[in-house]
Formats: sequence, structure tokens, C-alpha cells
Amino acid sequence: MGLGWPSLLLPLLGLLFRIAEAAHPCDVITGSYSNWIGSAINKEVVIVGGGISGLSAMKTLIEEPVTNAVILEAQDYIGGRVKTYREGSILVEDGAEWIHGGPRNPLYKLADSLGMLTQPLADSAYDWRVKTSAGTKASEAGYNVAEDVFYECEKSSVMQNYYNSGVGQCYKDKFGSFYNNGLTVPGEKSAWLHYLNMFVLRDVGLNDWMEESGRDFDQFISYGGEDKLNQWSQGYDALTNYLKNSVPQGKIKLSTPVCKIFWDSDPNGKALVVTSTKEAYLTDYVLVTASIGHLQERHLQLFDPPLPASYQNNLNRLDLGLADKIHLGWSSPWWKKLNPKPLDLQVIFKTFDLPSEESWLYGVMEVMGVHQQLNLLQAFVNGDYAQKMEDLSDADVKRHILKFLGRVTGQTVPEPTFFRRSQWGKNIWVRGSYSSYITVSGDQAGLKSRGPLAKPITNSHGNKVIFWAGEYTNTTRYGTVDGAMGSGTRAARQIISDM
Ligand SMILES: Cc1cc2nc3c(=O)[nH]c(=O)nc-3n(C[C@H](O)[C@H](O)[C@H](O)COP(=O)(O)OP(=O)(O)OC[C@H]3O[C@@H](n4cnc5c(N)ncnc54)[C@H](O)[C@@H]3O)c2cc1C
Repeated sequence: MGLGWPSLLLPLLGLLFRIAEAAHPCDVITGSYSNWIGSAINKEVVIVGGGISGLSAMKTLIEEPVTNAVILEAQDYIGGRVKTYREGSILVEDGAEWIHGGPRNPLYKLADSLGMLTQPLADSAYDWRVKTSAGTKASEAGYNVAEDVFYECEKSSVMQNYYNSGVGQCYKDKFGSFYNNGLTVPGEKSAWLHYLNMFVLRDVGLNDWMEESGRDFDQFISYGGEDKLNQWSQGYDALTNYLKNSVPQGKIKLSTPVCKIFWDSDPNGKALVVTSTKEAYLTDYVLVTASIGHLQERHLQLFDPPLPASYQNNLNRLDLGLADKIHLGWSSPWWKKLNPKPLDLQVIFKTFDLPSEESWLYGVMEVMGVHQQLNLLQAFVNGDYAQKMEDLSDADVKRHILKFLGRVTGQTVPEPTFFRRSQWGKNIWVRGSYSSYITVSGDQAGLKSRGPLAKPITNSHGNKVIFWAGEYTNTTRYGTVDGAMGSGTRAARQIISDM
């Protein structure tokens, strides 16, 4: 019998898969506790990850003072999902961008006290347009309905009826009646429902609006309108630098991925942490701040012995939304030559007729100016649409979005002088963006809040050795920078009170 295609292809695929797998930086780390203990450096606390939660934890420890602590960060920069990029006079945020909710957000007060707070522009400061993807004018009434439904489902009195279903059900239910009662155009109804769906994916940070449990959504505490969008005037990394400045030199190690945590092998009940750079740390406490995306993918390789089954189960009851951004810049605003304003373009799709490779654009519902830079435009892409976009080359993404902008505006779009897009899903140290969310199936399997995910793990010596921080562990402000910061402070205090 001759070899068919599948039998030739399968071994080849297996080989490619193994090559791809072998590329993980932690694959160089083998051996047991006894292979590493001889070279171990002693620490009181090892913090895994130098994002905002890890840096905040370190700041709290230093203030105590607990000084024999180190942050081990896998990437070559601190900040994690806070990542500011500068090129010439252009400043863009690959990750977090806004301080949500006005003065009740502690970051608002911090940025203000540092003289680094930018107030949002008034709506009237924008060149606001509502268009169909074919370039015709769309009705503003549809936009108003989408916005009203969005805020209707933010109300606890409304969302509590959806504790056993996905949050998307609330938006779907409310949309029907709101749309029919508004001054709306019947022929645009399904286009506005799709717009609302994309609006929710972007603002809530979900992969699919039917996935997040209504109960989880309702536990998020708003600081009084998450739409109050203040910014750090000189970039979000001002926060990273502020936190870093409280940490003495030498206590943050970059490009140092943690690959193994032996948490129940040491005769004295400590933990042994091993990095891909082949360093080992013997420590009383490990504070893990990696994202839920990274942990879901790597916890079986990272922890030795494996985490208790109950913790593993809970890890898999959450998901991490994927959101990417595309930034485009020009030397002058092409959309209006005289007295230009930052563009704010809302887009609805009445037809879904894009070529398949451009179909990721269905995930774009707004293209707008950001960070008060007149010549710059930004688009968000979420969930599966973002995944699709990440798989394309920069050149393709740029070509697609320029063509799209030309069609929607009906104008000639010049070649941009600046192009950048994020790929948070491909980042092995994050594997997603925002927000973490308890899924409907996770809720039904028993995870009703994030509380259990913030509980330390105790080893057989009765020592609490593994502590948890990171936005996903914050019960009320998950998915935000202030939530990450709060989780780091909380975990550091847990450690201090155990000392
Ligand atoms: C596109 C985007 C837009 C956003 N917009 C906003 C916004 O406008 N406002 C807002 O409040 N929030 C926003 N967020 C969310 C916010 O950025 C995050 O909630 C917050 O920064 C998470 O911080 P963290 O410390 O919990 O996690 P992370 O930032 O993920 O930090 C964890 C760190 O751990 C490191 N790490 C992982 N594994 C290992 C390992 N094995 N060894 C060593 N190090 C490891 C990672 O490299 C990372 O640096 C946005 C996020 C994204 C991606």
C-alpha cells in the first residue's frame, strides 16, 4: 500500500510541532531539586514577574523593610502589559492606556500628584463620523442605542439577572427593545448589534461576549464611569518608573525567566526557584505575578510538584481576553486639511463581504486619535479577530487597514510614516491582554469569585510558600492597572504578616 498524504504529513507536522516546542526558553532547564540546590542564592522573597503587580509588591516589601527580595522578569523590560513605545515625537501605548473612572481611581491621584495627569478631550474636540464599511453615512441614533445598552448592562440591578449566563445575553436582550424604541434605521439593526458586540469586546476585554459569567462581571467595582478616560501625560511607563524608583538597584533582574519552582522538596520547607539563565534561589516565599494566560499554558512545567488539583481547576475556570492595537501616523492629518481635529470614526458593517484574509477587520468598530496626537490614529481588534490579525504579516495588516480606511472615509489615504501593531497573544509571557474573566462554565464548576486564586499555597511543612498577585487575582478591579497594583500590595502584605 502506497503512502497517502496524511501519513507523510503527520510525521512532518509532529516534527514541526516539536521544533516549535523546543523553542521555549525554559526547555533548557532539566533536573530535580538536588541538581540545583548546591548553587542556590538565599532570599526571603522571590517575585516572579516585573509587571505593575510585581513592582507594587516589591515597593511594599521595601517599605516594610523586607530587603532580601528580588524580582525575576522574563522579558527585557519592566512593566509587562504597561508598555510605552516612543519614536521621534510619537508616543503610543502597546498595552494599558487609560486611567479609568476619574478621581476615585488611586492612579488618578498619583498621576495628578506627580503633575502627569492629562484630562480627556471633550467630545466636541473630535472630528466625529459614523459610517458604514462601504463608506455611506450611518445613523447616529444607532450609535446612541449601542451606548445606552452598554451602560444599561453595567447596572448591577440589570446584570444580576444574568449570573447564570454569559454577559452577552444581557446586551442581546436589551438591544432588541432599545433599538426598536429609538429613532433608528431598521436596515441597520444587525449592523449595530455587531457594533455593540465589538464595543463590549473592546471595553470589557473579552474574547466572546457569551463567555464571561454575569456574576463575575457584576463583581467588578466601577469608580463611577469607566468612560472617564484620563491619561499619563508622558506615557504610562511613568508609573512603571515611579514604582521602580522605590526599588534599590540590583533587585530587578531582566531577561530572567523563571522555569521551575520546587515548592515542596526542601528539607527546611523553603522553595527553590530556577531560571532559564541557570540561576537558583532558595527562598521563604515565592510571589507569582504571571498572567492567567501564561499560567494556564505553563503551570504543569513551572511547578514541581504540580499545584494542588483545586488550584489547577480554578486556573482553568478563567480566560484572558485578547486585545490588540494598531497605530498609524502621518506628517499631517489627511482626513481634513483646514482646521483639523483628531478623527473619531465609528464603523458599522451592513454587509460581511470582505475577502477572507481581511475578515479580521470585522473586529474594528472605531478608528480614533489618541494621546492628544493629532496625526495619529488607533484601532483596537479583539478576540478571534485579533488572533487572525496576529497571524498576518505587518505588511498585510498595514495594507488591509489602509484600504479599509480609504473605503470607509471615501478619501485618499496617504502612505503612513508610522505603523505599529501589538501581538499580545503571541507573547509567551502573557498570552492575552485584558481582561481576565471567570467563564460561565467556570462559574458553573464552582468558581464564584477570584478569592480562591489569591489564597497562598501551603507545603507539607505547613509553610505558606507560594503567594499570588496579578490583575486576575483582584476580586473587584481585575483587568486594570490599578487592580494589578492593588493585588501586588495585598500579596506583599500577606507575606509580611506571615513572616
Ligand atoms: C492592549 C492592552 C490595553 C490595556 N488597557 C488598559 C487601560 O487602558 N487601563 C487599565 O487600567 N488597564 C489596561 N490594560 C490592562 C493592564 O495593562 C493589566 O491589567 C496590568 O498591566 C496587568 O499587570 P500584572 O502585573 O497583573 O501582569 P503583567 O503586566 O502581565 O505582568 C506580569 C509579568 O510577569 C512576567 N512573567 C510571566 N511569566 C514569567 C516567568 N515565568 N518568569 C519571569 N517573569 C514572568 C511577564 O513578562 C510580565 O512582565 C490593558 C492591557 C492591554 C494588553
